[in-house]
Amino acid sequence: MARLVLKFGGTSVADIDRIRRVARHVKREVDAGHQVAVVVSAMSGKTNELVAWCREASPIHDAREYDAIVASGELVTAGLLAIVLQSMGINARSWQGWQIPIRTDGQHGAARIQEIDGAEIVRRFAEGQVAVVAGFQGLAPDNRVATLGRGGSDTSAVAVAAALKADRCDIYTDVDGVYTTDPRIEPKARRMSRVSFEEMLEMASLGAKVLQVRSVELAMVHKVRTFVRSSFEDPDAPGMGDFDNPPGTLICDEDEIVEQQVVTGIAYARDEAQISLRRVADRPGVAAAIFGPLADAGVNVDMIVQNVSESGASTDMTFTVPAGDVKKAVGVIEAAKDEMRYDAIQSEEGLAKISVIGIGMRSHTGVAATAFKALANRGINIRAITTSEIKISILIDGEFTELAVRTLHSVYGLDKA
Ligand code: ADP
Ligand code: ASP
Ligand code: MG
Repeated sequence: MARLVLKFGGTSVADIDRIRRVARHVKREVDAGHQVAVVVSAMSGKTNELVAWCREASPIHDAREYDAIVASGELVTAGLLAIVLQSMGINARSWQGWQIPIRTDGQHGAARIQEIDGAEIVRRFAEGQVAVVAGFQGLAPDNRVATLGRGGSDTSAVAVAAALKADRCDIYTDVDGVYTTDPRIEPKARRMSRVSFEEMLEMASLGAKVLQVRSVELAMVHKVRTFVRSSFEDPDAPGMGDFDNPPGTLICDEDEIVEQQVVTGIAYARDEAQISLRRVADRPGVAAAIFGPLADAGVNVDMIVQNVSESGASTDMTFTVPAGDVKKAVGVIEAAKDEMRYDAIQSEEGLAKISVIGIGMRSHTGVAATAFKALANRGINIRAITTSEIKISILIDGEFTELAVRTLHSVYGLDKA
């Protein structure tokens, strides 16, 4: 007997028929004698609808009320799954975040889980009860519901698994594992049987939304054995209930991966924007003068390129922000023109960031040069580049996103087994 946490994302619970199939996955594990907690997302499209209603009600709104509204999607699915499970003869009970409680910090809209009291759920496991937990939410110190940022149910699941000391956390979604790149963009993408925590962290933070970044961090820190697998397969097909080797992708330590590739995957993020400050007076403290106020305003600055000034007097500073932050960023920069001391400001939206990820880059040279050459051959212009030990990110015009992803995917041989 083991203890399992199963998480089902939005498309997996999109309607009652799909919730019934989810229930069959749950039943399979219950019938095998396991203790099961399930974490659910809102039905697909629901959270977007709720967010849109908040914006329609008022473009600038109270984050506590936003949380009260958007957390509701998960409450519905938790209740519905509990009803379906009960109708199949399974002892099940739904849990809202505050009932457990899942305690978070006070950052409404992007809260972080701080503590989960799993005692009551564990007690009920002993009575054979299945817990159906509403994902994406917790209870903030102000005693109000807080949500964990988009895609946050993954994080709820891994955090619940850590708190319950579960043997495994299965993230069921609409693809059957983690691929070398988004299979919706590159049909030749290959499913990986294993991917390291570090590479998965990079892929998630560079745009692969199959797992929320924070869920990967938690899995790494708490050593939660996490699989990404499909909810669409027949729950009773052979091998689905295999305890040690379930179908899907295992997120694991680097040393559990036998054949390490130089490049593991390609990720992309659309809706990037570029802001350039022209002829900034070059002096010690110039970067602090620009990025301090942006950070204070909560603008998420990503790539930064500063030119070496020819004259020594002035320089150009270019950086990227999510497209949704452009107005705020430009407002902050214009308001601080006197301290920042620049000549002109330019901004451009509709860009994309394409990233090449692989632990093997630590010990191999020429990976970046290969990418630059391949993109040049396709006539794709590179606007900015950043690198770290295990990734290269390239900023390009958004219209070339698909072409760039496919080009890089093929140039590193990721489409070949
Ligand atoms: P859920 O609603 O189950 O949380 P998401 O839509 O958040 O599902 O995440 C699954 C999606 O992630 C897939 O449909 C796929 O398009 C996308 N995705 C992006 N990159 C990858 C990748 N490298 N491997 C698998 N899926 C990916
Ligand atoms: N329903 C939330 C969202 O759409 C959380 C999740 O699905 O993980 O962002
Ligand atoms: Mg998701």
